[in-house]
Amino acid sequence: MSANADTIFALSSGRPPAAIAVVRISGPHAGAALQATIGRIPAPRQAALARVRDPASDETIDEALALWFPGPNSETGEDTAELQLHGGRAVIAAVLMALGRIEGCRPAEAGEFTRRAFENGRIDLTRVEGLADLVGADTEAQRRQAFRQMRGLLGDRAESWRTQLIEALALVEARIDFPDEGDVPEDLVGPALGRAGGLRDEIAEVLADQRRGERLREGLVVAIAGPPNAGKSSVLNRIARREAAIVSPVAGTTRDLIEVHLDLEGFPVTLVDTAGIRDSDDPVEQEGVRRARERVAAADLVLWVLDASAGGEIAVDTVANEFPNTSKWIVWNKIDLVSVLRIKTLRSVVHKLDYRVHFISALSGLGFTEFIAGLAQQSREYLGSTEPALVTRERHRRALEETVVALDRALQRSAPGQEDILAEDLRLAARALGRLTGRVDVEDVLDVIFRDFCIGK
Ligand code: GDP
Repeated sequence: MSANADTIFALSSGRPPAAIAVVRISGPHAGAALQATIGRIPAPRQAALARVRDPASDETIDEALALWFPGPNSETGEDTAELQLHGGRAVIAAVLMALGRIEGCRPAEAGEFTRRAFENGRIDLTRVEGLADLVGADTEAQRRQAFRQMRGLLGDRAESWRTQLIEALALVEARIDFPDEGDVPEDLVGPALGRAGGLRDEIAEVLADQRRGERLREGLVVAIAGPPNAGKSSVLNRIARREAAIVSPVAGTTRDLIEVHLDLEGFPVTLVDTAGIRDSDDPVEQEGVRRARERVAAADLVLWVLDASAGGEIAVDTVANEFPNTSKWIVWNKIDLVSVLRIKTLRSVVHKLDYRVHFISALSGLGFTEFIAGLAQQSREYLGSTEPALVTRERHRRALEETVVALDRALQRSAPGQEDILAEDLRLAARALGRLTGRVDVEDVLDVIFRDFCIGK
């Protein structure tokens, strides 16, 4: 594994000002950095109270807790130090400035601590991803899944599959290397194929999971659609206010989609308002509209909002035509404006079409309790499962699919004389698993994975 000459440092805790700020230092000069700033190296893994000084001026910057984690049994695998400072902006700036002046120390790049942990063999790639998901988890169900991944639920399994494959491969190679030797058992290929077949079925079963893990990671995506002035934005706003949710409008122009992230009984739900979707001649706007349509087309559920007070009957089946592949609910809004009789009529119209239907008023809040409970139930049905998912990303799925394809090919190479080609297929299967955990050939995916990390992680 590569040894990094640079020592990196960064603020690893959240945005200041805060009560406490954690600055981490990792690399061969981490000990020297502690010497320079607090004048000593504390006992390993024990918090020590220390004065932090600027080595240039010798002025005391702050009083802090210092921790020392000597490599290789540290998080990054390198010598690592941690300073728990008072979380003021000027304190942090002064300490980072002081560290920057120490020989061999430089600010860390995004995800660089974790990248070093990976490069030093402390964690495999699926654990890296689990760690990223744990930090990004918005809801309880997502946290659980991310935590399992970080603890190696998939990584350990993949590593054990890979070991078994390499053992099967060794049998085939023995047959190739010693075709006629008396002390090599006749049938080595049979047992090798037996193992490959067992593994193939096991991995195929893991893949047959209805994308549960990926779905939970992304959450239930619910698009709010319908004619202008039906009250789509009002519905979205009321839900967002009511749930005091993780409201986060997607960055961009006002024409972009508004997204609201909700935590409904522990399950993540993203509501997307399509009010901004309208045809336009402006190319920039057209691009926005295209993206919006794509997002809605990929939604798991469409709430088709209609104005219950609007005159005439709306052709509800247009809903079916607009979103042929998505489940849909009809949401009659503005029921504060209509009579009970009218609601009855509307109910019978929709009844014929076999949609789930809700009657609400975004203005008064009428019907919202049942409506939100319905959404929560939908997300639970869609995302909830007692079985933890192993596959949580498209990358995992592709690697495992590749493994199965290679094993399927291998299983057809049972005829004598096909040992070389059988060995090659087993090697390809093992390689796909190696890429999954990051043991082999991963340079190309690393930048993509670590791009999601922030500085200090
Ligand atoms: P959108 O174009 O579908 O996003 O519709 P808006 O949310 O902008 O609402 C259109 C108009 O209907 C606004 O004037 C809202 O105040 C009004 N409105 C929305 N929901 C209700 C409701 O439940 N009852 C009544 N009376 N008015 C509503």
